[in-house]
Amino acid sequence: MTTLQLKDAGLLKTQAYVNGEWLGADNGNTFAVTNPSTGEVIAQVADLGAAETNRAIEAAETAMQSWRQKTAKERSAVLRKWHDLMLENQEDLAIIMTAEQGKILAESRGEVAYGASYAEWFAEEGKRVYGDVIPNTTADRRSVVIKQPIGVVAAVTPWNFPNAMITRKAAPALAVGCSVVLKPAAETPLSALALAELAERAGLPAGLFNVVTGINAPAIGEQLTGNPLVKKFSFTGSTPVGKQLMALCATTVKRTSMELGGNAPVLVFADADLDKAVAGAIGTKFRNAGQTCICANRILVEDSVYDAFVEKFTAKVSEFVLGDGFAEGTHIGPLITDKASAKVQDLVDDAVAKGAAVTVGGQVDALGENFYQPTVLANLSNDMRVSKEEIFGPVAPIFRFSDEAEAVKMANDTEFGLAAYMFTENMSRTWRVSEALEYGMVGVNEVAISSEMIPFGGVKESGQGREGSKYGLDDYLETKYICMGGI
Ligand code: NAP
Repeated sequence: MTTLQLKDAGLLKTQAYVNGEWLGADNGNTFAVTNPSTGEVIAQVADLGAAETNRAIEAAETAMQSWRQKTAKERSAVLRKWHDLMLENQEDLAIIMTAEQGKILAESRGEVAYGASYAEWFAEEGKRVYGDVIPNTTADRRSVVIKQPIGVVAAVTPWNFPNAMITRKAAPALAVGCSVVLKPAAETPLSALALAELAERAGLPAGLFNVVTGINAPAIGEQLTGNPLVKKFSFTGSTPVGKQLMALCATTVKRTSMELGGNAPVLVFADADLDKAVAGAIGTKFRNAGQTCICANRILVEDSVYDAFVEKFTAKVSEFVLGDGFAEGTHIGPLITDKASAKVQDLVDDAVAKGAAVTVGGQVDALGENFYQPTVLANLSNDMRVSKEEIFGPVAPIFRFSDEAEAVKMANDTEFGLAAYMFTENMSRTWRVSEALEYGMVGVNEVAISSEMIPFGGVKESGQGREGSKYGLDDYLETKYICMGGI
């Protein structure tokens, strides 16, 4: 087992956090968390199941009764402190993240700051939960609308953003008076547990933020989706798992938020600034080694600039350094598992068998099974799996289109609808195409579209609900109408 060099060793927790206590599984079982770059075990973490999950839900229900009675300002102070502690411990949190997730250290630092920004934002936004007084049809009545916390929130999060996908749910929930039971991904529980430690240090009362770690996701998930005390289920992960969990939530009619998979197109028109388009497409494709839900999945380039684009894009990608996320100079880290690498290889092999050209990369690297080479594919067609499936790896397929109508049709030809990007210098086209794209988010000449201030989320099978921004509170609030008569 390797030891992480942290300034504050107290941030490396291996027990689950339930009702303000650090505890092991009832049966004492643990599971290993490994570093995807080296395969070394970093920690053995408590492997909880259904019984412990239900106890966490009950604790959350009890804790929320007094938390919801506090003023928004009182809750805000705790969240603000949580934010400050995340930033004070940014380096340690980043080291934990790179060790368990593999992303390069600079990206981990960036994610910690991004994750913290949700705590800061919702500390403020939680103070602005307004109601309404609605004019009535009868003179002696008043109709009042108030917003109330929805109740216990169950959250399930993925491994690709081990910090920010948690704060994006927990911060708004806690800000409005809800409590949270979180199941982080089995690959990356350590970042979640470090957040719990910092929440405790920030003064968050016991039972409000519970972290249930475990490898039996269906057993934990069955309780989170089935227990009637849970009023809201918020999921970030793949579309197939999201669909299953939504169906389970139907039995108790829970409100759901679903942040699911994507198949983001980048449309590059002939009137674009080509260098800007190349830099943008590379930025969105290779972040986290291609393992983000808003990573470019298909790059669509207009005929007349196609060859020039492929040439410039390939030249830049050829310069990328693949390696351990902790090593100086690394641009791209490993994929999360060897299974992920094998899936990426299958997609590349399928494209090549159907006529695609590999201009750089194209295979698992000699560094090890988790390291997939930064890859560019040209001469793509719509019968190839890369046109339909989420690649989740450092592979950039570059398609060709002949006019705007065809570009929009190709972009929308997917069941997903999370993020889309376009590069053009034509203002009229910007409006036309932005409106025609069936996506929850559109970046125009910009790919760094995420922040705590914007509504993040998708349409179609990419999900429902929005996280971040003033809209991000809605998912954790109920709207209650009160009719006052005899006035
Ligand atoms: P995943 O396989 O769907 O897993 C996501 C989470 O669900 C993990 O915590 C997993 O636990 C858990 N899970 C799996 N089966 C479950 C069950 N039956 N009951 C309860 N929980 C269950 O997704 P992933 O591979 O971790 O993440 C990558 C996916 O997330 C991609 O599709 C990506 O696009 C999507 N994503 C979307 C957004 C967005 O905002 N739209 C953001 C980030 C990622 P275990 O780890 O224990 O299996």
